[in-house]
Amino acid sequence: MAITIDAKKCTACGKCAEICPEDVLLIEDGKAFAKYPKECWHCGSCVYDCRFGAIEVDLELDTSVRFIEF
Ligand code: SF4
Ligand code: SF4
Repeated sequence: MAITIDAKKCTACGKCAEICPEDVLLIEDGKAFAKYPKECWHCGSCVYDCRFGAIEVDLELDTSVRFIEF
């Protein structure tokens, strides 16, 4: 699992750290930082709420919810 933060896009607004339910993200040295990436449960909130498009989260098939139509 990987959380990628684009330092060029991140403004250190803190929104991602504020909304992350697992406190995975912190703001350090003027940008967001994934301090506890193993705690991420792939909710996608940080990606959705970053209005600068600075975060990407790789979703793993075995830990992501999938819907299959029969
Ligand atoms: S919400 Fe986006 S711009 Fe704001 S601190 Fe997080 S990654 Fe940076
Ligand atoms: S995907 Fe969810 S749990 Fe993972 S870092 Fe983003 S807000 Fe936190």
